[in-house]
Amino acid sequence: MALGGLKMEVMEEPNQEALQLGREFGNRGQCNPTYFTVGNLLKKLIQLRDVDGIPTEKIISNYAFVTAGGCGPCRMGMYATEYRKALRDSGFADFRVMLLTRSGDVQDVLMEGLKLSNKHLLMGFLTIMIGDVFTTMSLRKRPYEAFKGHVDEEMKKARIEVEAGIREGKNWKGLWNARKIIRGIKTKKAGPKPVVHIMGEFWAKTTDGEGNYHLFRFIEEEGGVVSNETIIDWLLHQIWRARWSESQKHESKFMSKAEWKLFAVEQVIRGVFGFFCKFYGVKIPLSDHDALAEDVKPFFDLHVDGGEDHMEVAHHLAIARDGKADMIVSVKPFTCLSSSGVSDGVQGKVSELYPDVEFIAVETNGDGAANFYSRIQMALQKVVHSVQ
Ligand code: SF4
Repeated sequence: MALGGLKMEVMEEPNQEALQLGREFGNRGQCNPTYFTVGNLLKKLIQLRDVDGIPTEKIISNYAFVTAGGCGPCRMGMYATEYRKALRDSGFADFRVMLLTRSGDVQDVLMEGLKLSNKHLLMGFLTIMIGDVFTTMSLRKRPYEAFKGHVDEEMKKARIEVEAGIREGKNWKGLWNARKIIRGIKTKKAGPKPVVHIMGEFWAKTTDGEGNYHLFRFIEEEGGVVSNETIIDWLLHQIWRARWSESQKHESKFMSKAEWKLFAVEQVIRGVFGFFCKFYGVKIPLSDHDALAEDVKPFFDLHVDGGEDHMEVAHHLAIARDGKADMIVSVKPFTCLSSSGVSDGVQGKVSELYPDVEFIAVETNGDGAANFYSRIQMALQKVVHSVQ
């Protein structure tokens, strides 16, 4: 795909091979998103060198990798170092990696070279929105698809249309063609199915592959409908945190200029995302992050930053109170500092208040899928029987 003079390739979903490479070249004691994502980059570079026969110097001069990273109290702050170490040890020492941080900065981790313009960043941002819309629509429609594989097939065609639109500089044509395909998806009636909300650590809850043992599809096969969280909602939470941090700097009831600016950015994001949802005919609610923060105060100190902050506990409270799901699965990598280490310590209190909504916290480490599945299966069976 080409955009604004840049040639782009989308990385494959990280798999076991990526995990093993990440473990081999990474430091000990990291959480598994680090191993999966760093290993996935190594896997790609090794394939370019050993399978496609491109010399290492050419790979280093012609390719660069853009990904999410950042500072922060959890291990996300160490991603830059992890990439650097693994690339050095695997023979790609000077390979360029650019991290887009959660505070919105662009960190050019390994030397200069690739320049991303505002247009590139805006397009990246819009594609995240489209990705959220398409992912959510797949999850909503797949449990009711007219025949097996139909939704995946049609959504793939829709993605190809969007890609073609970007490649040809005809973005709207691509979006419009995708809309026609999506509107043609056929569904069938089915009996009542339990709604299972997936929350937890950012990477584990949004990835759709071996990184979370194909959690979404597993729940569908077991008879549930997945309710997901979007990347845009997480970005809105980051904006809320920046605004809240500003509000702590003064005692006035009125918002400062910086808070107003962040508030305006939030409204624009909500407006554009709402437009795309309408365009594709789907309702995807975005959280009211002020209300979530207010609700969670008795349970969680808002000053605790990193990972999902208070969002997991706040979402559990809101979803259980408003009856938006029959079951909640909080998925996180083994030893996740913010999710296992902090949020799960509070979740028991919320479960006591809302015992009718089944809540389980499950960890992934890349191995041991059987235990992971059996815990979810046991919880889900109770819920399946109660809705039928
Ligand atoms: S949120 Fe947890 S799993 Fe994710 S980078 Fe931080 S410590 Fe690792």
